[in-house]
Amino acid sequence: MSDRIHTLSGYFHEYQKSVTEPEQFWARVADSFHWKKRWDKVLEWDFEGPDVKWFVNGKLNITENILERHLFIMGDRPAIIWEPNDPEEEGRTLTYKQLYHAVCQFSNALKSKGIGKGDKVIIYMPMVPEAAVAMLACARIGAVHSVVFAGFSSNALSDRINDCEAKAVLTSDGNFRGSKKIAVKAVVDEALEKTSTVESVIVYQRTKQEVTMKEGRDYWWHDVIDGQPDTNEAEVMDSEDMLFILYTSGSTGKPKGVVHTTGGYMVYTKYSFENVFQYSPGDVYWCTADIGWITGHSYIVYGPLLAGATSIMFEGVPTYPDAGRFWAVVDKYQVNQFYTAPTAIRALEAHGTGPIEPYKLDSLKVLGSVGEPINEEAWHWYHTHIGKNRCPIVDTWWQTETGGIMVSPLAGVTPTKPAYATLPLPGVQLAIVDPEGKVLKGNSVEGNLCIKFPWPGMIRTTYGDHERCKQTYFSTYKGMYFTGDGVKRDHDGYYRILGRVDDVINVSGHRMGTAEVENAINEHPKVIESAVVGYPHEVKGQGIYAYVICDMKNRTEENLKGEIKDTISKIIGPIAKPDKIQIVPGLPKTRSGKIMRRILRKVAEGSMDNMGDTSTLLDPGVVEEIIKGRVE
Ligand code: ATP
Ligand code: MG
Repeated sequence: MSDRIHTLSGYFHEYQKSVTEPEQFWARVADSFHWKKRWDKVLEWDFEGPDVKWFVNGKLNITENILERHLFIMGDRPAIIWEPNDPEEEGRTLTYKQLYHAVCQFSNALKSKGIGKGDKVIIYMPMVPEAAVAMLACARIGAVHSVVFAGFSSNALSDRINDCEAKAVLTSDGNFRGSKKIAVKAVVDEALEKTSTVESVIVYQRTKQEVTMKEGRDYWWHDVIDGQPDTNEAEVMDSEDMLFILYTSGSTGKPKGVVHTTGGYMVYTKYSFENVFQYSPGDVYWCTADIGWITGHSYIVYGPLLAGATSIMFEGVPTYPDAGRFWAVVDKYQVNQFYTAPTAIRALEAHGTGPIEPYKLDSLKVLGSVGEPINEEAWHWYHTHIGKNRCPIVDTWWQTETGGIMVSPLAGVTPTKPAYATLPLPGVQLAIVDPEGKVLKGNSVEGNLCIKFPWPGMIRTTYGDHERCKQTYFSTYKGMYFTGDGVKRDHDGYYRILGRVDDVINVSGHRMGTAEVENAINEHPKVIESAVVGYPHEVKGQGIYAYVICDMKNRTEENLKGEIKDTISKIIGPIAKPDKIQIVPGLPKTRSGKIMRRILRKVAEGSMDNMGDTSTLLDPGVVEEIIKGRVE
């Protein structure tokens, strides 16, 4: 049974129901899952604690809803299609039946190593199907997984191991990424020198590079599964048992260990997946995220597999062996729904349309975007050159903490508007508040984005530090979840995310979202990407400092800066003209592609001595280059 909404009036109808009768609404959605014992009560909540429980006393195992549930009718349908880094290497397909056996077998292996319900397991693996198998195997036996992006340093890894007191680490020997072969196990070895809780390390062989294996602690994946039965009974879990811990990307500070629980997360990820992407049985869906991000959790693994979808998992990078790789993969598997990040779109846009030309892309029905506001220019490029003006773009706003997509068009149902995430999903009750906490009613308003009612996929706590959860999300505005993002509701009631509230710039009393200013800068044809921050200014309170990546062909720095200022004046007005523009070779980004504006703010202010937590930075070298070219 599917809860898919098909029309705009259907959406408004469902949305209304979800607000007036939220418990009945979510009970109906939850009824289509397999529960070992039905819940006693749909919802108990208090945002003061915070203390939120969905499907109270319900018993289930999320993997039964992915595996057993799909086994008999569609066991031979592909669950995961894996495309390796090197296009010459053969890909792999795991049907639902094969996935079932792989998960059972590996979960039996985990049990044989003494890992069970409640134990924390770190997954530090490349994008191979076994990474998804590892997540599901943990869920099957009630162990709590915490996936750490396999490109993170040993320090970032040991911090996370220590924070959640992990008992095991699942990893690989190495990782292929573009033209590089990266040591993975060696990083784990280094991390483990600074930790004391890990009893076993299981190593999947991917690159066959040399590794050191510590006797009594380290085991090969193929050895531990050898001889293990490929069936088992899934552990009985409570709705509110922890499913996983995932650390946020760290754009704004030290990463937070976001805790998601079983029942609500399951219901919300499947529901949002089916509705946003309008997935129909038989479609091939591809999300290019890494499983180390929430997007990979909710929309490569859990959401699609709960829906019985075929989900592509891609090991490589968008520009290897060339900038046409994404499109080659789309044609190869006849992808219907394609979901990526603005940072990838802009990077590919910089290569021009040449790399797209050899491909048809005629299987595509829906395009998605996630991670940061997608600027209009990139939106149009994506729409025109990839979607051929025929595929709706779903600009999905959400966070690690929300578990699933919160504000987004439903593909083909909600009329889109470039740079707008449009409307909330059913069950999502947004509020725009001013800095004093007053809720702003009506349209054409702008302020801080809050959520005033629980939704099933929401964060329950930050691991080991409930107070931090309360302080970060539930204390700024009493009785509401505060997202940290700024937002505008326009005259049509459509939502546009303006960037982080902390990044809002106040020039002579005019408040401006970083996303809006960057959006204007990016309209200049020579601009590839930009980031703006405020800095203290004697006269205006704050001045605007813009960091811009440009194509410098046929331009001097001086004319380019002048043209950029003119572009902004035209689009927003002279008030938004940057006081300083620095042409940079790159921007400091998190591993998930988000700009770390806090670093840029420090450079703009001239306080370069303490940069804060930079463990999730993609390329620390960029920061030095930026400091060198700083505009006084
Ligand atoms: P930290 O909380 O540690 O600073 P983070 O916020 O970058 O890290 P994520 O949970 O991965 O970690 O990112 C969520 C944020 O990404 C949102 O709060 C928002 O700022 C931004 N974001 C995601 N999708 C969109 C989108 N479609 N439009 C605008 N902003 C988006
Ligand atoms: Mg955040």
